Amino acid sequence: MSEKEQPEGLGTLAGVGPKRVELLAHHGLHTLEDLAMLVPRDLDEMPHPLPLVVACEARGELVRVAGKVASFRLFRQGRRSSLRITIEDETGRLDALFFNQPWLREVFAKGRHVELVGRVASTKSGPALTVPRVGHEAKALPPPGHLEPVYPVIEGLGADFLRGLISAALQQMDANGQRIAERCPPDALGELGLVDLNLACRHLHAPPSRAAFFAAKRRLAFEKLFELAAELVRRRRARTTGEAEVFDGVALDELAGRLPFALTGAQRRVMEELLGDLGTSQPMGRLLQGDVGSGKTAVATLAGLAVAALGAQVAVMAPTEVLAEQHFEGQAPLFEAAGVRALLLTGSMKRAERRDVLAVLEVDEPLVVFGTHALFSKDVVFAHLALVIVDEEHRFGVEQRKKLAEKGRHCHRLSMTATPIPRSVARVVYDDMDLSVVDELPPGRGVIDTRWVRGPHIRRIPKFLLERLEAGERIFWVLPRIDASDPDDETTAGARPGRGLEDVMEWMQGAGLGDFGIEVVHGRLEAAERRRRFARFKTGEAQVLIGTTVIEVGVDVPEATVIVIEDADRLGLAQLHQLRGRVGRGPTERSWCLLLGPKSAAERFELLESTRDGFEIAEADYVWRGMGDLLGKRQSGLNQEGLEEFDMRLFDAARRLVEHDDALYAAYLQ
Ligand code: ADP
Ligand code: MG
Repeated sequence: MSEKEQPEGLGTLAGVGPKRVELLAHHGLHTLEDLAMLVPRDLDEMPHPLPLVVACEARGELVRVAGKVASFRLFRQGRRSSLRITIEDETGRLDALFFNQPWLREVFAKGRHVELVGRVASTKSGPALTVPRVGHEAKALPPPGHLEPVYPVIEGLGADFLRGLISAALQQMDANGQRIAERCPPDALGELGLVDLNLACRHLHAPPSRAAFFAAKRRLAFEKLFELAAELVRRRRARTTGEAEVFDGVALDELAGRLPFALTGAQRRVMEELLGDLGTSQPMGRLLQGDVGSGKTAVATLAGLAVAALGAQVAVMAPTEVLAEQHFEGQAPLFEAAGVRALLLTGSMKRAERRDVLAVLEVDEPLVVFGTHALFSKDVVFAHLALVIVDEEHRFGVEQRKKLAEKGRHCHRLSMTATPIPRSVARVVYDDMDLSVVDELPPGRGVIDTRWVRGPHIRRIPKFLLERLEAGERIFWVLPRIDASDPDDETTAGARPGRGLEDVMEWMQGAGLGDFGIEVVHGRLEAAERRRRFARFKTGEAQVLIGTTVIEVGVDVPEATVIVIEDADRLGLAQLHQLRGRVGRGPTERSWCLLLGPKSAAERFELLESTRDGFEIAEADYVWRGMGDLLGKRQSGLNQEGLEEFDMRLFDAARRLVEHDDALYAAYLQ
């Protein structure tokens, strides 16, 4: 919607200068229409006034109070400031807090009569309204009972300002005679009982009733659902109309014989599905799912072998160089044993090396090449690319995926996820693909005892670790942030200062762990150096490996029996589960995953303690993080605003219509 031919810039609105234009743009708000279609989070009803003595008791509630300004304190700290005012009426007093709005001092002249609407919070000095809305004789608040939309917070814009901006945008659109074009055909509107978009936008910001507000919200949600459904239908159609090379006549048993172990039942079943796809000219589009350690990589390798063995080229694309290298190191021997050349192409390669690899790709000979998205740069020309295997596709950006789609137009495609996605979610997010699930772990996996260690129990860790080390076992120690500028750190920096590497080292030396050899790995190391350090851990020269989450990806060390994760609350559930999958891979019967972190993450830690089933964990993760987040990752580019409260039934309805209604499909395709 925002890509109108001549968008009415937001700079024409009062109070919006270049800085705010930029800020708004950053939130996807470019035009008047974008503002008109900004979906409120919620609806508040203006409460009736309460005497202060009553309001003080209404913790957590939205209240309206009135009184005289009795006192006023402004605290400044650098550019930050906070303002605490006290108002009083004949029944009592109540404080109100404001942050970084020093100009409000003008409003709160002592003795002035003001009205406040806000939530009552508990603060150190008693109940207080935090950042309430303010009314006074020059600017009255809406009357009690008035319905008021609550907008998403845009840092740097006051809620009142944003509200004013939206109503100014609507007024300006009226003045211009500008209407929001209805894209949804009347039939579909009727079938789903949807209100007209233009009307919906009015009701969204100035709702005549609760029912009208929620009907409007539903209408706007359908805008997103239609766009999403159209995009997924487009992808599926684009894929199924291409012609890919047919690879049939590869016997599964012959392929499987190349592995040092027998396939599990699940791996066999999935391989049959893959070979079935490769055996037809319709390009394969399959998502390979399975729990950590279920043997997905082995399956992908066999698929690659099936194609390369018949003379074509295979590309394996990973989201990071570390991961690409690991795939290369782990899989190259199997390819080479089958007479298939294996290559690595990464962005950090030397020019000459890169040139050599490119030259090989241009020759039509069977090969497999591992790399990052650098595989799909302009200068890379494949003579005979037939299969693209993408690891963790959701981690690639829109541009990268576009390039992949261009180069891989007539290719079969296999995507893998490092961690499971709940079926319900996969059905939406990967609706354009077929799904294969490796739902069985290879035999002989020991139990992993997961424990959230806290309080005095933490002191017992060193003794426990020493016992494991003396038995010849290996230990991973994960520090999500080795230092503040760590490039591997995907967590919110600065939330809480974690222990640094030096602290941990010192502590380990003091506990006597140093005698067993300690290595450290993180993303800033040169590839060769990092490999050397991993190797020392693998061979046992160093029995302890301290690392950032780089160790998450495929370090296969059967002797590793303990993984300790510090600041575990900084990592997502899926990532913790993935890290835990680094142990329990060897013949030892028992392994341990020790989680260190605060009570605030208790719920997540307890879930990990109680189950090792990645699909169950994924389901919980989905409930906690919401669909919007997952969609955003896969779709990036599709505005995910408004999808926080994703409703599967609504999506099903939208998709059904889009699939069968060409006008609807065309209208929402972006
Ligand atoms: P994933 O990619 O699903 O995490 P991998 O393919 O990396 O799992 O396999 C994990 C480990 O299990 C590897 O060491 C691999 O060699 C081994 N493995 C895979 N399949 C089997 C099998 N069928 N039998 C025994 N070991 C297996
Ligand atoms: Mg793996």
